[in-house]
Amino acid sequence: MTDSFEGNFTQQEPIPEEAIDAALGVLRSGRLHRYNTDPGEIGETAQLELDFAAMTGARYCLAVTSGGYALATALRALGVGPGDRVLTNAFTLAPVPGAIASVGATPVLVEVTEDLVIDVEDLAAKIAASGARILMLSHMRGHICDMDRLMAVCDAAGVTVVEDCAHTMGAAWNGVPSGRHGRVGCYSTQTYKHVNSGEGGLIVSDDAAVMARATILSGSYMFYGRHPAGPPEETFETIRLETPNCSGRMDNLRAAILRPQLARLDDQVTAWNARYRAVEEGLAGVPGLALVPRPAAERFVGSSIQFRLPGWPPARIGALLAAAAARGVALKWFGAEVPQGYTSRHDSWRYAPAQDLPRTDAVLATLLDMRLPLTFSLEDCRLIARILREEIARAGARPAAE
Ligand SMILES: *Cc1c(COP(=O)(O)O)cnc(C)c1O
Repeated sequence: MTDSFEGNFTQQEPIPEEAIDAALGVLRSGRLHRYNTDPGEIGETAQLELDFAAMTGARYCLAVTSGGYALATALRALGVGPGDRVLTNAFTLAPVPGAIASVGATPVLVEVTEDLVIDVEDLAAKIAASGARILMLSHMRGHICDMDRLMAVCDAAGVTVVEDCAHTMGAAWNGVPSGRHGRVGCYSTQTYKHVNSGEGGLIVSDDAAVMARATILSGSYMFYGRHPAGPPEETFETIRLETPNCSGRMDNLRAAILRPQLARLDDQVTAWNARYRAVEEGLAGVPGLALVPRPAAERFVGSSIQFRLPGWPPARIGALLAAAAARGVALKWFGAEVPQGYTSRHDSWRYAPAQDLPRTDAVLATLLDMRLPLTFSLEDCRLIARILREEIARAGARPAAE
């Protein structure tokens, strides 16, 4: 059979009507700037911060312009600067090493395992070898490492953890929301993540001084008192004068779009995971294909799925990508020599010193990735899995030397 899939892998759902109504309310008011409020009024942005703090159980929350801005701001607020080293996963998206570079620091890349999480043993070795005091932990593609073990290693070594939760908003480890194990959690509200405001980011922490610095950094001027989800005013006494304004505020329009989406995030997670499980089931048992195990302690959000084809040479993977694409199934390959689209490999970040990462390289060489937008039905997911099964069998039958 050579039927094909007609759906669009980058098509997200429409913005809910309730969110559109809220956005129109902001537009009609003309007050889009977060500090353009009436006395005593809590604007949409401040309310979004209250909502997200309550949702994650964080003491404080700050909304900003993007996930990448959130990451860079977290580092700056922790005092990271030029010449410092920051540990991070070797497999992540470019904004993560980019955030480290943006404060003048140097990324120290840590190996990832076949299960796509940070290699905790390599982390311990690199903490010792580099003297780095900060880990920017990326839950890349929504895979969460053993957080209890990771935090034990980092706590023992005095390493502060910043979590990149771009793919884990709504996820948890052992019941603790992703972003709440480390000192600071950073999230993205960009279109391809779990809530959609085009662009946007959120920062959570229980650390008052860090969040006071982040608030001033984000461009609060002296309006930090209008952050009901921010630290108490006295925290700002000297911080407000010592911290630069690196303008990166969230606005009321985007906050208004986000609040109704956050309220239904749990249902969205259920819908994503049903799609994930449908594809996973369809790929289970395909000879030569390795799925990524999902630990029982992990509550994940299946907004994308990854699988490996261990031992497949590049030409065979290339043939599979072409055959799947011809039948409407868009796969991404993290092993391609030249960076394409959103894919990113550590050796294409040439602003960072070249680093030897054989384990990560071996994983990425045969790793494939596929988005699962909620515009796909369960039937769509079963069709996609069947197409992949057929094309993997066909490409797998090609001679290795070809
Ligand atoms: C998207 C993404 C970011 C950055 O988010 P933006 O809001 O696009 O800046 C950071 N880390 C990972 C892993 C991402 O996928």
